[in-house]
Amino acid sequence: MATGSINVSVENIFPLIKKFLYSDHEIFLRELISNATDATLKLKHLTSIGEAKVEYGNPIIEVKIDKENKTLHIIDQGIGMTSEEVQKYINEVAFSGAEEFLEKYKDSAKDSGIIGHFGLGFYSAFMVADKVEIITKSYKDEPAAHWICDGSPNYTLEQHNKTERGTEIILHINEDEKEFLEDSKIRELLVKYNKFMPIPIKFGTKTETLPKPEDTKEDDPAPTKEVDNIINNPNPAWTKQPADLEENDYKSFYRELYPMQFEEPLFNIHLNVDYPFNLTGILYFPRLGQDMNMQKDRIQLYQNQVFVTDNVEGIVPEFLTMLRGVIDSPDIPLNVSRSYLQADGNVKKISSYITRKVGDKLNSMFKNNREDFEQKWNDIKIVIEYGMLSEDKFFEKADKFALYPTVDNTYFTFEELIEKIKGNQTDKDNRTVILYASNKDEQHSYITAAKDKGYEVLLLDSPIVSHLIQKLETSKENISFTRVDADHVDNLIKKDEETISKLSDEEKEQLKTDLEKVIPAEKYTVQLEAMDSNAAPFMITQPEFMRRMKEMQQTGGGMFGMGNMPEMYNLIVNTNHELVGQIAETKTDKKKERLIKQSLDLARLSQNLLKGEELTNFIKRSFEMIK
Ligand code: ADP
Repeated sequence: MATGSINVSVENIFPLIKKFLYSDHEIFLRELISNATDATLKLKHLTSIGEAKVEYGNPIIEVKIDKENKTLHIIDQGIGMTSEEVQKYINEVAFSGAEEFLEKYKDSAKDSGIIGHFGLGFYSAFMVADKVEIITKSYKDEPAAHWICDGSPNYTLEQHNKTERGTEIILHINEDEKEFLEDSKIRELLVKYNKFMPIPIKFGTKTETLPKPEDTKEDDPAPTKEVDNIINNPNPAWTKQPADLEENDYKSFYRELYPMQFEEPLFNIHLNVDYPFNLTGILYFPRLGQDMNMQKDRIQLYQNQVFVTDNVEGIVPEFLTMLRGVIDSPDIPLNVSRSYLQADGNVKKISSYITRKVGDKLNSMFKNNREDFEQKWNDIKIVIEYGMLSEDKFFEKADKFALYPTVDNTYFTFEELIEKIKGNQTDKDNRTVILYASNKDEQHSYITAAKDKGYEVLLLDSPIVSHLIQKLETSKENISFTRVDADHVDNLIKKDEETISKLSDEEKEQLKTDLEKVIPAEKYTVQLEAMDSNAAPFMITQPEFMRRMKEMQQTGGGMFGMGNMPEMYNLIVNTNHELVGQIAETKTDKKKERLIKQSLDLARLSQNLLKGEELTNFIKRSFEMIK
């Protein structure tokens, strides 16, 4: 038997390891299974090139709990190690590797982010175990070795009578880490980290029902047998070639990834690149609707089929973090902080590759089946609009396929829209006016008024649309967006001739004074307009600029630093309407005041601005008037 002392300052690293990323103790299992996988894949390689003259067979990795002895076992059938190799790889490489790692990252560990997902390799076993044993038999014709280390720098290494090839790691689980002796905990970890690892992982057995033999009776139970319970799918869809996959394979992989997700994805994008970096993956567009924060099923990051994290911030462009799926890349550095990650050359390339692929896919969907793309638009627009706002490259691409639906469900691209309305919807500054609504019900009367004049009205209802509009106004020439209730439609668009006012200047002067006596000036700016006599007599509007800035504040986190803007409205009074004429002619002040109040309240009612006590009073008053 050999005994020895590990030649690094282990006294220092044990306490450190125990403290290191306390919440991430569970990664030891992923690390040990990764080692077992590597050892198995190495053997596969060596047999395939004829270097190892043994049968590769169908190796599996087994995870076993021994409750009585309080041990957890990870057993592989890989290349194994000779005694010298244990000496070299475990005593020297693994220990010094761990030491080096801790030296380097103990300070940045606080800055964790992704760093917490980077393990210490074999050494992480000591995060949960007081004592670790390795029993290993190399594929080479040499006796097995048995290494034991109790966490002090001292170890023993002796021969063992193990005859099957491979390595068994035995963890004597620490009293404080008892949860790792629970079936349910280990199962949970295996599913979380190893669900798609390339070598089958056995954890316990399960009962499988066999087909009934021909001669059995109807009521006889079908025969059963105990079979290995394999936790993982060693060949997940993203590792295959797109040409070998059908639509249904993508859908069933989605269900495998998100078993609790019942809705099918809208479509997917298969990523597959090996130069200048290596990346595979499948991204899914879920039905997103209006909700930007439903982030429970997120994109998962893998490295060689080992789960790393479901926080892909910094790797996937932010606007695409709303998607779902998997990316797998060995070229993403994990042992660094987030801020460093974002500056990494490979990561930048990966991020822009993903953006480009998504843009290309959307573009080809738009080109190949526009009708279908239009149908999907409302479920995916939020990603596209967000992307247009945040990535200029994506804006350029998406500008050709982003859609602008009208309230009547006609979908225009920006270019088509301008083509359609140019000349017919122009303001006094000769800009093309794009009219839009954000809510068909709430803005119904305004929409109707605009449509009656023959104008196109878009329905733009995503929560970030005010930002997008702002961006479009600055990047396109000679256009302006105006919500249908931002002003009276007659004032928005340049007309060939002015409507002549029925009231004289003096009458108007007097009317304005009368109105302002009743209408609170801190809330409303009274504006007299000579309009079509069929247009509404009183109308409340909120200037486009004010409203948009307010909305942008709400969705963009005060990026304009304007504090809280007051609610200010315009009250547009149509001097050509019969009712307004009547008010002007009313003799008694009392009656005049009552008419103005009632008209103001009606205008407020139509904008959903009349509430609470004021609404109660209004209704009471209205009943009085008609009785
Ligand atoms: P890494 O895996 O990053 O090289 P580890 O500390 O996890 O570092 O392991 C150190 C070395 O020990 C490995 O490189 C490998 O040579 C050897 N090793 C660990 N686990 C096994 C195993 N299950 N079978 C064979 N060799 C192993």
